This record gives sequence, structure tokens and C-alpha cells, in this order.
Amino acid sequence: MFDGIKCEKNASLKDLSTIKIGGKAKYIVFPKDEAEIEMVLQEAKRLDEKVLILGNGSNTLFDVEFFGGVVISTREIKEIEKIGKEKVFVGAGANLFSLNLTLSQMGLGGLEWSYGIPASFGGLVYMNGGAFGSEIKDFLEIVRVLRNGKIEDLKASEIEFAYRTSNLKNCIILGGVLALKEEKIEKIKEKMQNYLQKRQLTQPYDFPSLGSTFKHIGENGGEIIYPAKLIDSLGLKGVKIGGVEVSTKHAGFLINSGNGSAEDYLSLAKLIEQKVYERFGLKLEKEVVLLSELEEK
Ligand SMILES: Cc1cc2nc3c(=O)[nH]c(=O)nc-3n(C[C@H](O)[C@H](O)[C@H](O)COP(=O)(O)OP(=O)(O)OC[C@H]3O[C@@H](n4cnc5c(N)ncnc54)[C@H](O)[C@@H]3O)c2cc1C
Repeated sequence: MFDGIKCEKNASLKDLSTIKIGGKAKYIVFPKDEAEIEMVLQEAKRLDEKVLILGNGSNTLFDVEFFGGVVISTREIKEIEKIGKEKVFVGAGANLFSLNLTLSQMGLGGLEWSYGIPASFGGLVYMNGGAFGSEIKDFLEIVRVLRNGKIEDLKASEIEFAYRTSNLKNCIILGGVLALKEEKIEKIKEKMQNYLQKRQLTQPYDFPSLGSTFKHIGENGGEIIYPAKLIDSLGLKGVKIGGVEVSTKHAGFLINSGNGSAEDYLSLAKLIEQKVYERFGLKLEKEVVLLSELEEK
């Protein structure tokens, strides 16, 4: 089985998600390069097992007791290599903390806004993550994917990115090339610290979470409405179901304040959706994705 590739059987998913909620999976595998991903896919096909792909689990709620297939974690695919004056190849599993620290050492600026997002590079690309007016799509030149059994380097300008989504649904992202700007190391570090501080002042970094629960309304056209403001105005901060609570620091975050379950999380999200709809007539759409609804690869 998955010869020579790190693999855990009947393994807990809890530690693969930043909200520390999760059931078990039949197999969790940790390939360390593209060749190992291909081997895992071939073996899973031979065994007729379903396959899901996971980055750092900072946007995924594990809402099933048991996933009877293979979860591929990209965590070990963490190469970061300078390939030109202002270009860097980044492996899908590189996390945004170490990516930002490495880029600052290289004297390459541009991505500072993402310092503090607990994501993998591949996950951020797949979701077209962003903050403080920037999105990852604006810094991408190439996205390397595995699609229909073939490795392809896609031009980022030809990929459809929109607010927190992309058309990379049928792809496994293996990595990508970032186009950045040379900048003084001290300047980059200062910007990173400023962004991190802003996050820590306004977001509940001291509790496990999945970041913003709901998407902004109107990002793809129209007036932008922030769900956190609506939730706050309804007085829902601090409301708790089981072990999951609406953060008192940022109403858009649901935090695991102790032994929370996926059921608690979903019940609280539903309560919020109902209250917002009753009061404002607006339908909230989840930004958080559910394991039970992930695309099989
Ligand atoms: C404290 C906190 C702060 C946050 N702040 C922000 C923020 O400022 N901006 C923002 O946009 N988000 C933010 N988030 C949410 C989250 O970090 C992003 O959505 C991020 O893009 C998810 O990356 P991930 O690697 O954790 O993805 P995961 O949760 O592991 O996966 C998310 C989705 O991407 C898919 N995926 C992951 N890797 C790959 C791959 N290699 N190939 C194909 N598909 C893949 C998965 O199948 C899944 O559908 C925050 C979350 C937390 C907990």
C-alpha cells in the first residue's frame, strides 16, 4: 500500500484542521513530491478508493465521522525556490508563514498581506484567498496542476479566479510561480508585522477556528456587505452551541471554545443564517467548505 510514502491508517483528521474538529479517515497520506502524488492516485484507483485533497485545513470543516477513502495532505510538498530575479516556485503544501519568512529573506515583496493566514499555498490558490484589498491571483504567473493524469503548467492569466473561488475544481494544484518585486528585507518584515498585528487585534487567534464562516455579500458585483457586521448587529457575539461559539472579537469567526463538534458548528452557522435572513432578508453563503462536499480527485 502506498509503498514508501508516509501513510496513516484509520487516522484522526482533527489535527489536520485548524479548528481541531474531525472524525477519522481510512487513510491519510503525506506525499512529498509530484511523483509521490501520482503514485498515490494510481494506487487509490487500483484499490477503488475515493480521494480528497487537503492543504492546511484552515477552511475545511470535517463534518463526517468517518471518511472511507484516501485523504492526501500536501503538507510535505513544501519546496520554495527562487527561479529568477523576482520569481519563485512554491510547492502546494508550503504554508503561508514559512513562505512569507522565506520571501522576506530573499528580499522579495508583495505577499505581506497574507502573513498570518494559516493556509497552504495550494489551498490559497484554489480558494483565491485574499486580504486587505489583495488576492493571490494578482501575484501568480503559473499554476502547476495535475489534471486528468497529466502535469500541466497553466498560465494564471488564463485561469478564472473570482472572489474566494477558481475554476481549478478538477485539478490537484502541485505548486505555482509567483511574480514579486525586489524590496529591502527590513521593509518587507515591517509590512508583515503590521499586517499580522492588524489580524491579531481584530481576529481570535487565541482560539481554533476556520477564519470567516461566510462570504462577503456583493463581492462579485453590487454593494459589499460584511456578514460579521450583520451578525454583530444582531447581538450574536458570544452565542454558543455546544463547544462552538461566535467569537466576541470578530463576529464572522466561529471558534472552538472546547470540545466543539462539526454538528455544533453547523447548528450555530444555521442559526446565524436564519437570524440574518429573518432580520435583513439576506442569504449568507458559507466560505468554509465541508469535507462531505469536497470534489473527489
Ligand atoms: C485564523 C484564520 C485567518 C484566515 N484569514 C484568511 C484571510 O485573510 N483571507 C482568506 O482568504 N482566507 C483566510 N482564512 C481561510 C483559509 O485560510 C483560506 O481559505 C485558505 O485559502 C485555505 O487554505 P488551506 O490550505 O488551509 O485549505 P484547506 O482548508 O486544506 O482546503 C480548502 C479547499 O482547497 C482545496 N485544496 C487545498 N489544497 C489543494 C491543492 N493542492 N489542490 C487542489 N485543491 C486543494 C481543498 O480540497 C478544499 O476544497 C483564514 C483562516 C483562519 C483559520
